[in-house]
Amino acid sequence: MRAAMVKADVGDDVYGEDPTINQLEEFSADLLGMEGALFCPSGTQSNLLALLYHCERGEEYIVGQKAHTYQYEGGGAAALGSIHPQPLTFESDGTLDLEKVAAVIKPDDFHFPPTRLLCLENTHRGQALSLDYLYAAQQFVSEKNLKLHLDGARIFNASVELNIHAKKIAKHFDSVSFCLSKGLGAPVGSILCGSKNLITHARRWRKTLGGGMRQAGIIAAAGLYALQNNIERLSEDHKNAQLLAKGLNEIEQLTIDPKSVQTNMVFVDAHKIDCQELTSFLKSNGVLIQGSGLLRLVTHLDIREKDITTAVKAFKAYFN
Ligand SMILES: *Cc1c(COP(=O)(O)O)cnc(C)c1O
Repeated sequence: MRAAMVKADVGDDVYGEDPTINQLEEFSADLLGMEGALFCPSGTQSNLLALLYHCERGEEYIVGQKAHTYQYEGGGAAALGSIHPQPLTFESDGTLDLEKVAAVIKPDDFHFPPTRLLCLENTHRGQALSLDYLYAAQQFVSEKNLKLHLDGARIFNASVELNIHAKKIAKHFDSVSFCLSKGLGAPVGSILCGSKNLITHARRWRKTLGGGMRQAGIIAAAGLYALQNNIERLSEDHKNAQLLAKGLNEIEQLTIDPKSVQTNMVFVDAHKIDCQELTSFLKSNGVLIQGSGLLRLVTHLDIREKDITTAVKAFKAYFN
């Protein structure tokens, strides 16, 4: 990846003249089977650009209560887009119940913000949404005259887990955002995919938000490398997550619901233990974790199978 960055051809992307960014955008649109793609500095910005396209000032999007696009993006939709959020609690499988969604769509009455968009997340807490659900959601929004956005930060974890092409997920949506960073291993960047119109609109607002970059082909090369080399290997992360879950479940004081471990995340119920003490013990044994209560452990391309063994050993040593 570093070598690809060194070799990258660059130009000024503000003028659309960076060949590596153009290549990354074309590759991404193709990969998801969508008309266009836009390279963004972060997923937060890429999601916001989608929201700004689908919703005008004073309009509403329906979103999971614990969705990244609602809870973890600094309230950008409201603060910068004057877009009203309607959060709903996620079901345990990471879906939003469409009957519950229907119940919060606002009637055409000037007391209410007009509902325009439903926003889903895939994977959510490491869980992949089924194609049946995505199909149902697509039918639903078309009946209700809404648009459908996917925060697909980890869309490739979902496609690898379901053993399907990412296009089969993306085709249900009007727009999809995914991360090049995190599990795919690029240092920076996210991609927004959608129609040509959406991308033109998003390109303008990306500039407004300060996301217009110049010789950014250097970082786009890392993203391109990630898409070309690091998608299939996500299955190793999923396998490692299974190993980790299995190892930790042997510890009496910890509980993991094996059904919840589908991709690269392991949620450990650690409500009954002193996580601060655990964290410092693990740290002195070379394993870094953070959090308390429900611990989220994530496998990724810098974690090998032998590291899982090391981690499980350190956990066991603590509880012994
Ligand atoms: C990381 C992440 C994003 C994007 O976050 P940035 O840190 O802004 O790139 C979006 N959605 C989900 C679910 C994420 O985990």
